[in-house]
Amino acid sequence: MSDSAHKNRKLPELSPGTAHEDALREGTRLAGGPVSLACSFSVEDIVVLDMIMETGLKIGVFAIDTGRLNEETYETAEALGARYGIRIEWYFPQAADVEELVREKGLFSFRNSLEDRKECCRIRKVEPLDRALENLAGWVTGLRREQNVTRAQISFLEREDREGAIIKINPLAEWTADQVSEYVQKKQLTVNRLNGLGYPSIGCAPCTRAVRPGEDARAGRWWWENPEHKECGLHSR
Ligand code: SF4
Repeated sequence: MSDSAHKNRKLPELSPGTAHEDALREGTRLAGGPVSLACSFSVEDIVVLDMIMETGLKIGVFAIDTGRLNEETYETAEALGARYGIRIEWYFPQAADVEELVREKGLFSFRNSLEDRKECCRIRKVEPLDRALENLAGWVTGLRREQNVTRAQISFLEREDREGAIIKINPLAEWTADQVSEYVQKKQLTVNRLNGLGYPSIGCAPCTRAVRPGEDARAGRWWWENPEHKECGLHSR
């Protein structure tokens, strides 16, 4: 099959209740090339990392350092690298773009408007992600449908609409927050210390706050914006 025919081929719909290992295996098989986990060190990503290690599938791990992460996130990354004996492929934003942004708009431009916030995410997150994906046939995420309205429709397997189409594998698509917590407890996983301080979802330090009882998991992300905008561009193209 030609490259373009491969890219246009419709992905199979995995049935509801598909086991996470099966979603991982099928996604990796269909990708037919290098696959890597995009790890933000969220509790979901850590669960998926552990699953990958359990399956023994040849899946790498990459992470994006936006330059604005919490200290606790770096500690978590180092602890996971040591626990599993893995090398994390870190990607950084282009220095010249960050310099220009900060010189022109200051260190907190993302608070000015939605456009400025998206500009910061584009420079610090999306551009490095694009480079990370350049040589991959598939990427794995820890996305769950119930995390936010923006994620309610995700499938186990998706084809990313980008140059050189890539398969996105979401093995936790159907999982609930309770299932994630139970897995963490059962496996005694190392998670970000901030999770225990009211941060169910952790992004950059200045754009994340703890959630209040009853709030949804992503309420603390860009809390000054409406829920339908709460994506940084990594998962909403
Ligand atoms: Fe910038 Fe905030 Fe986006 Fe991080 S989350 S890249 S600091 S706007």
